[in-house]
Amino acid sequence: MYLISTRGKSKKMLALDAVLQGIADDGGLFVPERFPRIDLETLLEWGKLPYAQCAAKVLSCYFDIEYEEMAQMTQAAYASFSDAEVVPIQKIGEGEYVMELFHGPTLAFKDIALQLLPRLMSKALEASAKDALILTATSGDTGKAALEGFRDVPRTKIAVFYPNEGVSDMQKLQMTTQEGSNVYVGAIRGNFDDAQSTVKQLFGDPQFAEAAAERGMKLSSANSINFGRLAPQIAYYIYSYGRLVAAKEIEAGQEVNFVVPTGNFGNILAAYYAKRMGLPIYRLICASNKNNVLSDFLESGVYMAQREFYKTISPSMDILISSNLERLLFEISGRDSKAICHYMQDLKEQGNYRIRLADKLELSGQFFGDFADEYPTRSIIKSTFENDGYLLDPHTAVGRVVYGRYKRLMQDNTPTILAATASPFKFPQDVLYAITREQREDAFEAAAELARISGQQIPAQLEKLQQAPVRFTDVLDKQQMGEAVLKNL
Ligand SMILES: *Cc1c(COP(=O)(O)O)cnc(C)c1O
Repeated sequence: MYLISTRGKSKKMLALDAVLQGIADDGGLFVPERFPRIDLETLLEWGKLPYAQCAAKVLSCYFDIEYEEMAQMTQAAYASFSDAEVVPIQKIGEGEYVMELFHGPTLAFKDIALQLLPRLMSKALEASAKDALILTATSGDTGKAALEGFRDVPRTKIAVFYPNEGVSDMQKLQMTTQEGSNVYVGAIRGNFDDAQSTVKQLFGDPQFAEAAAERGMKLSSANSINFGRLAPQIAYYIYSYGRLVAAKEIEAGQEVNFVVPTGNFGNILAAYYAKRMGLPIYRLICASNKNNVLSDFLESGVYMAQREFYKTISPSMDILISSNLERLLFEISGRDSKAICHYMQDLKEQGNYRIRLADKLELSGQFFGDFADEYPTRSIIKSTFENDGYLLDPHTAVGRVVYGRYKRLMQDNTPTILAATASPFKFPQDVLYAITREQREDAFEAAAELARISGQQIPAQLEKLQQAPVRFTDVLDKQQMGEAVLKNL
């Protein structure tokens, strides 16, 4: 399939080439030229397949790769997951389900796309003279997942930048101990938005591109602005729906809601794409933390990025510039690329934009947004553990708080699936504190205590970090990012 740019000034490009390119030449994001419409019967059939096969069916709609070959790629990608189901689904309340997206090598949902993206990229590189240099900004989880996906992948090099003070101890250790000969990790003095905007700037910097080209490399991105991040995420919405039908929890064709803890709007956008493909979705519930720029936007139609930035216990959602919203606005506005160009220009020049009233009304029909502060987030971790026997990570907990409010406010009893985006063991101090009010400085001590009270095991990936040597210690100003990439890769 061809992809087009949200800003309408680049020529269309095959999906696989767009994965290599990352962002469109006009600064826009790649979106499908049209959405494949799949009938319910077929969606349900796909949802009954083992996860890797379901994903291959979905991805074959977008990438010009035969199903058999795609299935080999997805099989290989998801073989690294610790749960045989890949995405197990649990019931945690009446009509309330959790889809666990965190059983990959780095324990966050990002693995689902980032175990596959390098394989798509390698495929795209077959036709390319240059190798790929992947630049990635991370709010905590993308970085590790991208490093793990790309490490020692031939013809690729990857640099990851994270906010020095903005990630959990486990997340930081996961990145600074990264193995592989084609990787670089740098901490940034600043927040995620600083890192992301500098990466975007480097993409548009001809001098930097030339320096990379001299080394035989072409720039690409592993952030969720890359269509190769988005497409694999569509699969688990279709899969989880199919599984609930197969388990007779819902009826074929019955609508469901999805609740998605949101930052850069990538995960929830994939749910919207699943809906456009034909999945019976009633509402998409967008849950933000204290950095509530999205819930304000969904309520007012005004996107106001200029506001105080908060560091929270759900750091992977500490984001004020939510890149993938551009893709949703493109669809909601009836694919009006002129309007999108205006919004993005306003955002750049004055730090905000206002969408048209008709578009705002359209959004409100399909999306509900709210946010959860730290207090209710901690308290739902505790109550969910004590009352439902389920251990939530702080991001998923934000989702459950917002869902509870939604349900009370809208009196909506539609069956609802909550996306569980990370393992609680990635944030052991905060999860332990929420449940027991016990403060542990040391992440591993906290994880051990959490394992004890929950009867779960500390994931092996985290346990081994305790002995792993730290390889990356650079702390940089954002102006030094480009130079650091060229020097180290
Ligand atoms: C990245 C991340 C999010 C936010 O996902 P987006 O696609 O950026 O909206 C939520 N929770 C966790 C644990 C994450 O790693």
